[in-house]
Amino acid sequence: MTVAALIVAAGRGTRAAGAAGGPKQYVPLAGHAVLWHTLRAFVTHAAVDAVQVVIHADDRDLYADAIAGLPSAKLLPPVPGGATRQASVRAGLEALSHHAPRHVLIHDAARPFLGADVLDRLIAALTGHDAVLAAEPVADTLKRASAGGIIAGTVDRAGLWRAQTPQAFAFRAILDLHRQAADAGRHDFTDDAAIAEWAGTPVLLVEGSSRNSKITTAEDLRMAERLMGQSSTAGAMEPRSGTGFDVHRFEAGDAVWLCGVRIPHTHKLEGHSDADVGLHALTDALLGAIGDGDIGQHFPPSDPKWKGAASHLFLEDAARRVRARGGRIVNVDVTLLCEAPRVGPHRDAMRAAVARMLGIDASRVGVKATTTEGLGFTGRREGIAAMAAASVMLPSDAA
Ligand code: MG
Repeated sequence: MTVAALIVAAGRGTRAAGAAGGPKQYVPLAGHAVLWHTLRAFVTHAAVDAVQVVIHADDRDLYADAIAGLPSAKLLPPVPGGATRQASVRAGLEALSHHAPRHVLIHDAARPFLGADVLDRLIAALTGHDAVLAAEPVADTLKRASAGGIIAGTVDRAGLWRAQTPQAFAFRAILDLHRQAADAGRHDFTDDAAIAEWAGTPVLLVEGSSRNSKITTAEDLRMAERLMGQSSTAGAMEPRSGTGFDVHRFEAGDAVWLCGVRIPHTHKLEGHSDADVGLHALTDALLGAIGDGDIGQHFPPSDPKWKGAASHLFLEDAARRVRARGGRIVNVDVTLLCEAPRVGPHRDAMRAAVARMLGIDASRVGVKATTTEGLGFTGRREGIAAMAAASVMLPSDAA
């Protein structure tokens, strides 16, 4: 392993969440958690081999939700952090030591706008330097204030830089320095470059990016939302559509399930689940729209767990998969093909049932029916067929 990334996401900072609460790295930003955007910069960078995230022990569920839809091949299992940022970085370094990377990029979870250009500059600078820091020259005039808020002087800003992350190091060197610092009773370093400075290791400054700022307050988050909206790829949504088709044959019985509604009939539909042919076609349409296999792959008929299952479980699962990608369902439409039973009297109940399962308004659900003029298996009343279409909006870079 050549380059590993270590993302520090164990903090408890909640100011950005406002009334919603929760640590800032899990707050939604343009359809995903802040952490999702941060991790995306690393897992999609060709030179990064593995990504180790350090999380708070209480956040395992938040983390699992946050990474949904992200390419996962480079993501190592998260490890729990410590009481301070320094302790959390140490925990991540110790976990990474089993993989013995040559270099490590240490980055704050709350900086979701890291560009590939900054990563390129840091990785290039690691050839010849053991410690490299992304930073921006200070542009504002700096004032020193006395007690009472009166200016005591103007600080010469020449040579002053604002430290960002990532901070990049020779892995073995920074691991050893973290161990030495802890052994020396130093637990107060707020960044890793400071540990290198403390040990006398030269730290090279490379150009960061003004976009690579840290989200701390609710105002930062609002600014970040606007920035995401302007970005050409991140946060942009695009329409996707999918189709589905299903058939179930009649067998002896007294009612059929169609689009979540039980309709008394001369037969029932044969199937491993409740055989709701309409919901099955809709499930496949949604899965098709997001390119995520089909109903038989996620709920194999060979699995006894799904024997007699209510088909709303399948459709609700497909809707969850759309949401996990940061997507939303625009509309769905289903056509039932049968001579009987008559669908018209149940149409509104079906639309309401499907809308409930998908968490959308009933105006976005179409249910139609047709006979096949006595032709074919549906015309011979041997079974019912259903076809469906679904339209969803997905982030244009969704995996
Ligand atoms: Mg089926």
